[in-house]
Amino acid sequence: MPGFLVSHFIENEKGVEVFTKNLSTNNYETFNGRNLILAMGTLNTTRCVLASLKDYETELPLVDNPIAMIPLINPFLFGMANRDKNIMGGLMNLILERNEQLPIQASLYNVGNILLSDLIMSLPLSAEVLPSAIRKIITGLFVAQVFYPQDCQPPSRLKLRRDGSLEINSQQKPGITQEERKLIKLLRELNLFSHPMLIQRPNPGNAIHYAGTIPMRQQPDKKYECDANGLLNHFKKVYLADASLFPELPAKNHTFTLMANAMRIAEQLKKKMG
Ligand SMILES: Cc1cc2nc3c(=O)[nH]c(=O)nc-3n(C[C@H](O)[C@H](O)[C@H](O)COP(=O)(O)OP(=O)(O)OC[C@H]3O[C@@H](n4cnc5c(N)ncnc54)[C@H](O)[C@@H]3O)c2cc1C
Repeated sequence: MPGFLVSHFIENEKGVEVFTKNLSTNNYETFNGRNLILAMGTLNTTRCVLASLKDYETELPLVDNPIAMIPLINPFLFGMANRDKNIMGGLMNLILERNEQLPIQASLYNVGNILLSDLIMSLPLSAEVLPSAIRKIITGLFVAQVFYPQDCQPPSRLKLRRDGSLEINSQQKPGITQEERKLIKLLRELNLFSHPMLIQRPNPGNAIHYAGTIPMRQQPDKKYECDANGLLNHFKKVYLADASLFPELPAKNHTFTLMANAMRIAEQLKKKMG
């Protein structure tokens, strides 16, 4: 509902009552419907479900794609005056197959569009030569963003605090993987050079692919699970339609899958309502 911030819901015999704040007037307003489909993004949907059940104790799993950022240099592209001639300027997507494990995805980006000021403190050069040196170097800088499937890292734990904020605790698996070594070796064939020691690992959550807090199951038996059509367990009229119900995340970005699944859930409900 544009302009309304949903806080929680109550299911009753007639349907579902939704509690909101009107962001134009700051007034609290309620809406009634026969059914409710929550699709506020994994974090906000989960917050809303926990708030509706006034549950400040349960810790739910939260999955995300672990990421590694591999900086790369192509020295043959240093000093190229025209960025349009930079053959690696576009985006390339790589899939690394693995034996008996889900594949890994890597996207290659040109970093030519970052602010020059971001590099200034990293180079041991005088202020006099820095601007022209950076302009020459930047055409040969690249980064490969590696997305792992969620099972490469323990899930984070999420709970609702009494003040309405979410507490999320994460652990990160450290260490260079053999896939990263393999990727660095493969990219050498494109004149892209790096070293495993240069790899950066953003904290869990930085992939922005949140999922798995209230997973769908064929036979849901836990309180925070959905059935295969998104119906929240122990409810009759409340459905989830975002990635909160994805039981797992592959390495490939999940948004198209999420959209297709949301349409499937809406279709199923439409049929059920007749
Ligand atoms: C910078 C960035 C880059 C990304 N790139 C990619 C990519 O390349 N490929 C890919 O697949 N995915 C990408 N993603 C992830 C993608 O954006 C998400 O997977 C997708 O948007 C999730 O869709 P959703 O409908 O579940 O949630 P959202 O898109 O977050 O939509 C939720 C909606 O609910 C509203 N809302 C939230 N809380 C409330 C509330 N309390 N009351 C009322 N309304 C509320 C929000 O305003 C929003 O309109 C990216 C994300 C970011 C941030």
